[in-house]
Amino acid sequence: MALIRSWVASANAPETDFPLNNLPCGVFSRPNAKARCGMAIGDQVLDLAAAEDAGLLTLAGGPYFGGGDWNALMAAGPAVWADLRAQVTVLLAEGSVLQPEVAPHLHEQGAVRLHMPFRVAGYTDFYAGRHHAFNVGSMFRDPANALPPNWLHIPIGYNGRASSVYVSGTAVRRPWGQVKGPDQPLPAFQPSRRFDFELEMGAVVGVASDGPVTVAEADAMIFGYVLLNDWSARDIQAWEYQPLGPFQAKATATTVSPWIVMRAALEPARTNGPTRDVPLLPHLAEPGPMLYDIALEVGLTPEGGAETVISRTNYREMYYSAAQQLAHHTTSGCPMQTGDLLGSGTISGPLRENRGSLLELSWGGKEPLAIGGLTRSFIEDGDTITLRGHAVSDGVRIGFGACAGQLLPALADPYAR
Ligand code: CA
Repeated sequence: MALIRSWVASANAPETDFPLNNLPCGVFSRPNAKARCGMAIGDQVLDLAAAEDAGLLTLAGGPYFGGGDWNALMAAGPAVWADLRAQVTVLLAEGSVLQPEVAPHLHEQGAVRLHMPFRVAGYTDFYAGRHHAFNVGSMFRDPANALPPNWLHIPIGYNGRASSVYVSGTAVRRPWGQVKGPDQPLPAFQPSRRFDFELEMGAVVGVASDGPVTVAEADAMIFGYVLLNDWSARDIQAWEYQPLGPFQAKATATTVSPWIVMRAALEPARTNGPTRDVPLLPHLAEPGPMLYDIALEVGLTPEGGAETVISRTNYREMYYSAAQQLAHHTTSGCPMQTGDLLGSGTISGPLRENRGSLLELSWGGKEPLAIGGLTRSFIEDGDTITLRGHAVSDGVRIGFGACAGQLLPALADPYAR
């Protein structure tokens, strides 16, 4: 679909993440005012709560936007989501007669504070990137048996922590944990020395379910997508993960981008999944294209220094889509809730420069990465990790904004008192 021009001039600039075709969903506050829902348009945010109060937006089942999160709107379902997009498009389109009434409800994004856009009901993280699973399996096991035997049949995952999902811009504190190197006779409790990021996409569940759903039904339940950094303490992970999987290594923090890009905005970027080594069981087979062509990159900025882009990859590299992961998640009868967040798993590509974690980029610390005049095997104190992503279809860019977090030094021993 071609660019829908807006009377907000910055929304028509080719480099903006937020043309009128996008309309991503965020929560913002102005000084001394309560947080409310807004949509990004160019370099502005439209105050949807004010637009709703002014009668410029009337949605079935509303009001939706004054409460400080998107969950109520997300629960309302695809018909209301589509109506919202249609109504806001009319308000902001070039030539709209409503421009004088809408303009007072726009605010510079640079002058507002962005908050978590939704209440996270549950957080599940998958391991569905084939290049990542192969790289990690090669490092920790051997390249001939890098993929676990289940891997080509089900999207494997674990239940993460909703309580430590933070919005972009939130600093992350280097954690302490129990670690044991292969040459150490006993474990030690110490600050993590191998703290890492994982480049992922997060799918946000809108419509709840109660019982098994098909892949097509799962796709229709998804409200939208965010960028997601699954911060990972590799030394804690290596000691704790067998046999139940990661636990404290992944519990410190997960950072998401502040704008949920609605599924409808990504439709032009929809693309096929990979060819399958082995056919999937029918309940996990795709009824159509279920992935998206989204270019992704990771920047590392040392404290006081300049950013270096250390990875470039694409969401279409995934072996399993979010719809397949969500369908799989329901097979047990597990109810899914509005606000459930599904991490894709680390998105690496075939080349070294496509690797979506420092574990892979530095090959477990054996091949440190050169960054300007510095080297990195893992994240150093003060480093900021910034994820970015966008799709381009018909010359129209649908972007996610930035998903950034700075690593703060570990505190003193939390048990020394
Ligand atoms: Ca992960």
